[in-house]
Amino acid sequence: MHLHQLPRPRLVRRPGLALPRPRPVRAAAALVVALGGCSAWSERPPTADASADRTLDDPLENVPFDAPVIDEAEPNDDFDAPLSAPTLRSSGLFINGGLSDWADVDLYSLGPVEAGGRVTVRIDAPADVHLQAALFDDREVLLTAARSSTSPIGRTVTLSHVARTSMNDCVLAVAAQSARRNAVGGYAAAVAFESDVALPTAAAQTVVLNFAGAEPHGDDDFTDRTVAPFDASDISPQFGGLTDDIRDLVVALVRDQYAGLAVDVVAWTEPIPWPDGVSVVHVGAVDDEYLLGVGEHVDEYNADPADEAFVFVDAFAQFMPLGPSADDIAIAIANVAGHETGHLLGLRHTVGAGSLMDVSASLGHVLRARAFGVWPLDAESFPIGYQDEPAMLAAAVGENPDSPPPEFAGVLSLKGSGAWTRWPGGIPVRPLSSCGMGCGGDETLDPAGRED
Ligand SMILES: [Zn+2]
Repeated sequence: MHLHQLPRPRLVRRPGLALPRPRPVRAAAALVVALGGCSAWSERPPTADASADRTLDDPLENVPFDAPVIDEAEPNDDFDAPLSAPTLRSSGLFINGGLSDWADVDLYSLGPVEAGGRVTVRIDAPADVHLQAALFDDREVLLTAARSSTSPIGRTVTLSHVARTSMNDCVLAVAAQSARRNAVGGYAAAVAFESDVALPTAAAQTVVLNFAGAEPHGDDDFTDRTVAPFDASDISPQFGGLTDDIRDLVVALVRDQYAGLAVDVVAWTEPIPWPDGVSVVHVGAVDDEYLLGVGEHVDEYNADPADEAFVFVDAFAQFMPLGPSADDIAIAIANVAGHETGHLLGLRHTVGAGSLMDVSASLGHVLRARAFGVWPLDAESFPIGYQDEPAMLAAAVGENPDSPPPEFAGVLSLKGSGAWTRWPGGIPVRPLSSCGMGCGGDETLDPAGRED
């Protein structure tokens, strides 16, 4: 049995949603000056038109030509041994580095960043070097990540992050893309630091769980799907009379997943006009799908409040050999719906049997309630570091004062401590068969205890 059924988010570019392509700016030319001895750049053709696209508000424009240059030296592969730059930095710096093989990860300690401080990084590499890069805080928690894309001078990856809270150290990490493991080599980075930038504001988000079906409605392959209205008999005939009960439990469980956050989970059970500014998760049978679900993209910090995802209900028939109850099936659907919603709000994949964003566990684990927490990043997302899901979600959508967040375990140092979830006593489960809607969580699951 194929045990990795949750898909990576399908990257679909839609009009108006595409990330802006990094522009060739003067900083790129400055890189060549500063790193003129780097063999990776010696054969780079001149970019005569680069200055034409320069913009005055690009912080990398302000990195002085004579800013310090860090020449990478191994080992700098983990958080215990990053190359340190804090004493060197002023308004910016340059880095001259290289990935020697697919497992190489280069870490650079950029020093403390106050709340409202912005770190901007641009990394240029030859066209055959496929990099990804990320910024982490001093807890080894991911702040932002991106993969390189084609640029006029090769491949480029740009990161920009405004610190919501102060940190003692911001760490830049550079790694090979997991799907392009042999495409490694030299790179050149420019890093700009600014202070007192306006903090990004969180905005409450409405997430619709659409059980009413959908017709093809977009202009791309992603939205070109016909979704049948939710019918539990599409999973198994034995659930034929439980469609409404399973649906209601799914809604309650997804609301539990996002408790404490300004995420309004709304259920559509009848076709209604599509409002603006909401994200929609379609929950229904889509005949030609074998995946459990798919999200439009990883929408970092919920930049787009109108994303879509699908939960392919008929694919849940693959759970039936495990003998699931209606409760179990509702939990599984809620896990996938909450997972795809997590992508739409900016979360990447993590690893942990109790993690909502996990894609490595068995089907049996998906039948158990999962939760957001601080989990190790999945290697496909980034080879090192953690994702603080409650914090990242709160930064994107804010907290809900009417629904206080659960008590946290308060684990701030992650080194060697493993992951924790937002429910330290276990993930609450509402059993449909014994109490129906609205009852408290009197059963719990160990969030990480069972690894079978
Ligand atoms: Zn996923």
